[in-house]
Amino acid sequence: MERIISEIKTTAGKVAKKSGELVELSKAKLNIANTKSSINANLKILGELLYFSHRDETEIDSDKLEETMEKIDELYEKLAEYDEIAAGLMNKKLCPDCHKANESDATFCSKCGYKFTEDE
Ligand SMILES: [Zn+2]
Repeated sequence: MERIISEIKTTAGKVAKKSGELVELSKAKLNIANTKSSINANLKILGELLYFSHRDETEIDSDKLEETMEKIDELYEKLAEYDEIAAGLMNKKLCPDCHKANESDATFCSKCGYKFTEDE
């Protein structure tokens, strides 16, 4: 009887860990989606800066341009971090070249053919 109880406890523990990971994974996925839409919003600002200066024949606001590009750099860095977290939680490994999430035992990247070395 005690063995059964302890087994139930172990299983409950595993389920708790699993659902904790699922929460983490959905958080990471939400962060990925939010970061992507921020990137798109900033790319749009960039496009508008360029286009309206062309249309209105005005100088591009270079401070604003620089600021927006730096913001996009930061967002891409964040996105790479979130991708890494999500891949880790799904037991996958990220291709260092194209950022595709591959099975943890993959030898080659399924998207770009990158060859994983032993320690990746
Ligand atoms: Zn790849």
